[in-house]
Amino acid sequence: MGDYDKREKLKEFYLKIRGCQECELSRSRTKFVFGSGSAYAPVMFVGEAPGKNEDLQGLPFVGQAGKLLDELLDSIGFDRSEVFIANVLKCRPPGNRDPRIEEINTCKSYLLEQIKIIDPKIICTLGKISTQLLLNTDKGINTLRGKVFKVDSRIIMPINHPAAVLYTPSRMEILKQDFQKIKRLIDSDGEVPACEEDILNLESETTGDKQNKGEQLGLF
Ligand code: SF4
Repeated sequence: MGDYDKREKLKEFYLKIRGCQECELSRSRTKFVFGSGSAYAPVMFVGEAPGKNEDLQGLPFVGQAGKLLDELLDSIGFDRSEVFIANVLKCRPPGNRDPRIEEINTCKSYLLEQIKIIDPKIICTLGKISTQLLLNTDKGINTLRGKVFKVDSRIIMPINHPAAVLYTPSRMEILKQDFQKIKRLIDSDGEVPACEEDILNLESETTGDKQNKGEQLGLF
């Protein structure tokens, strides 16, 4: 797919789903939050769901967590307009409660389609929900954070959610180091650098987890 096609296709997709009413979150949302950034992004960042500020503005990662994400992107020479930022859910769960499994199952096809259109070399999953969805595992973020998975031709790297780091300053340094690793992965153009020793085999790392792993990951 050419770059022009990607941009047009992403816009078409946005127009198609922006009025979604497939789950009950459509009734409590203020704004649908599609995601933002470049359709040609080499890297996508995928969080959990819109929060209060995102719901009000219709944009992902605004407020304090968004400011931190902007600073971390700046530390590796990127502006948020050069990457693509999205969430698993496009509408805010009331009171910022955890997304429900049925909501994730209903909404996940939108994220998978965004990934298919943008076709990034690298996906950074921010926190537990997006990590477990895209690696199709039940393992926790503390086990998977900072590790690099190669799924088909794409790299998936789970990192802590910036919002979680805001309230746990001791994790800040780890997140900064993880962003340096992301930069090395971007610089390697999606190839796994030989110096990385922790490239993991998804199969062995998630053995015993959900049964439909191959089926889901085959979608993108
Ligand atoms: S959360 Fe997803 S599935 Fe539910 S209404 Fe919003 S866009 Fe539709």
